Amino acid sequence: MKAVFIRSQTILRDSHLTHELDESTPRLVPATLEAVRQLGGPETMVVVYDHFAGSGDELPPSLQQMISQIENAAGRVDVAVVCGHQPGASCHCWEDSPGILWGAASRFALDLSSSFLIGDCVADVITAKAAGVRPILVLGDRSVQEVLATSDVGKDFAVAPDLPRAAEFIAIEQEIATTVGAPRDPAVEIPIEFAAEAGSDDLPLVVALSPEARQSQARRMGARLQLGDITRWLVFLTVGGLGLSLGIAYLMTHLYRVQAFPAYVYYLTLQFIPRPIRGAIFLAVGALFVSLAVYSVVKSTRAAASGAHEGRGRSQRG
Ligand SMILES: [Zn+2]
Repeated sequence: MKAVFIRSQTILRDSHLTHELDESTPRLVPATLEAVRQLGGPETMVVVYDHFAGSGDELPPSLQQMISQIENAAGRVDVAVVCGHQPGASCHCWEDSPGILWGAASRFALDLSSSFLIGDCVADVITAKAAGVRPILVLGDRSVQEVLATSDVGKDFAVAPDLPRAAEFIAIEQEIATTVGAPRDPAVEIPIEFAAEAGSDDLPLVVALSPEARQSQARRMGARLQLGDITRWLVFLTVGGLGLSLGIAYLMTHLYRVQAFPAYVYYLTLQFIPRPIRGAIFLAVGALFVSLAVYSVVKSTRAAASGAHEGRGRSQRG
């Protein structure tokens, strides 16, 4: 599943509007609503994000109103991501620590290397680039000079005059991806501390809105729980196995002392090898098998999680 991240301020700008956190969202124009509607699809989640200082654990009412307007116009918003931190606070949401994107991606298994971000300021472009997401900067009523003059973000990203043309750019790159192959390298691996379940104070608030997003989140959590259960099970099994082998070793030693064995037992128990080396060999073989077990469990749990994901994509297409 890929995503189009779009800043709520950019949606407002496209309708020539501005607003504050506590105000209600004014009416978006039909061209903006139509452009947002085009962004969503069976394989694409629409993620609306923004910075609302002090918004706490709830979505700001103005953002909820915007999402209702989009939904009433047959558009789709799957996820809302909000940085509620004060301006200047060192949160992990933006730029070289793009928690806005990583938080949503880790919770919904989004493929960032085929995702897009539509924003309207330089910070959006830097944030997108840090996560391997394709940025598209929407100018609105401003000139390129006004937006980029004082920044050193570079110039190798798409700039669109408005949202409909940003949506067209995305449609074209998606056509390239389906006809001649993915145009981008795989995105960087998401650091574990950005998993949205971690719920750290300096990460953004991630809220699943659509049924698809809720299902995806439940599946991811399920896979993680399962992995935890299996790890515990492996630890118990290893400790149990250790106990059993110690018991067998003691019994064998005892039997050796009280009982005569046939000659082949000498070879069967590798007694021609010095005892410390024999110990090391058995330890190495044991450690090898335990790591093989851990590796195969982790691998198959991950495959099960992503397999369920792809299965759903197919059933939606069909
Ligand atoms: Zn933040």
